Amino acid sequence: MTVIKAGLFRHLGSIALAALISSSLVSGDAASADDTPAKQLFGTVQLPSNSAPSPIGFYAKGCMAGAVAIPTDGPTWQAMRLSRNRRWGNPAMIELLEKFSKDAVRLGWGSGILIGDISQPRGGPMLSGHSSHQVGLDADIWFTPMPEQRLSAQAREDLPFTSMLDKSKFLTVNSKRWTPAHAKVVMRAASYPQVERVFVNPAIKKKLCDTWTGDRSLLGKVRPIYGHDEHFHIRMHCPAGTSGCKAQAPVASGDGCDKSLAWWFTKEPWAKPGKKPGEKPVKPRFATLSDLPKACAAVLAAPAASGQSATVGTAYVAPQVQPASQTGDAAIQQVINAGAGDLPDNTIPIPVSRPSLQ
Ligand SMILES: [Zn+2]
Repeated sequence: MTVIKAGLFRHLGSIALAALISSSLVSGDAASADDTPAKQLFGTVQLPSNSAPSPIGFYAKGCMAGAVAIPTDGPTWQAMRLSRNRRWGNPAMIELLEKFSKDAVRLGWGSGILIGDISQPRGGPMLSGHSSHQVGLDADIWFTPMPEQRLSAQAREDLPFTSMLDKSKFLTVNSKRWTPAHAKVVMRAASYPQVERVFVNPAIKKKLCDTWTGDRSLLGKVRPIYGHDEHFHIRMHCPAGTSGCKAQAPVASGDGCDKSLAWWFTKEPWAKPGKKPGEKPVKPRFATLSDLPKACAAVLAAPAASGQSATVGTAYVAPQVQPASQTGDAAIQQVINAGAGDLPDNTIPIPVSRPSLQ
């Protein structure tokens, strides 16, 4: 259904986007003179552009046209931290997450998956938390399965992350928390042909290297990186026919259970960056709109799609309460409040991203 809806917008959307791009060129590209951080511009837009779905640029330097949102609640998923408004992605990503959530249940992963950040409505750099997730092809999945009892919107703001590491040791998986089901869901994510990489903490990668008895050829896609001990990160290939999407260099052949993994267990990746004596501190410079692909200015300026028309996928419908007189059953099912109200913003631990996920 996702693809059909996207197709309806494709023709009109492409024309609108092309017109916007050319008009911004004619007007001298005023945006490039602006040094407003791009994260400010993209981080405050509430709705996607009403245009054909298109990832533009690179995972860590780009934006997204025609995004769709995954429903806050599906039969086998719940989206977390709803106040962040990062449920937006390329339709191919939303479709994949739906499929993955069903597969996860079959693998014994509770009632489904808890979905963390995907992207902002028009992608782009975020005000907090990530260097990638900019083109709608990255998604974070919690290492906590969805509980049987649906989480309220407030609980989804408040539920703390659970690390898979034993923090009393150096880079070691907590064997009380890590289960075979954890390994299975990560490896299932890596198994989809449309998935390019899955990022996990180096300790988790090592655990998989030491214990995975399934298809070892898939291990190469599972990449060690800082953080990612409370969630794992699924990155998709550029979907076919998206010429504006910049692909990442393919992962090296082999399972990655080699020197490249052993490096993470040395001091080097964890040493504080050295400063030469007398060196001035470098002021961080944030990317501006002119640092992003040109089409991103047009994406930002494009008319918005309505939030409802841009939400795709199978939404979860809470069981109806049957009046006792009709059912004759005194034990009325509890309806779970899954509605999103005005929710307080929540600051979450930000994974250290050095080196970045590029
Ligand atoms: Zn991520």
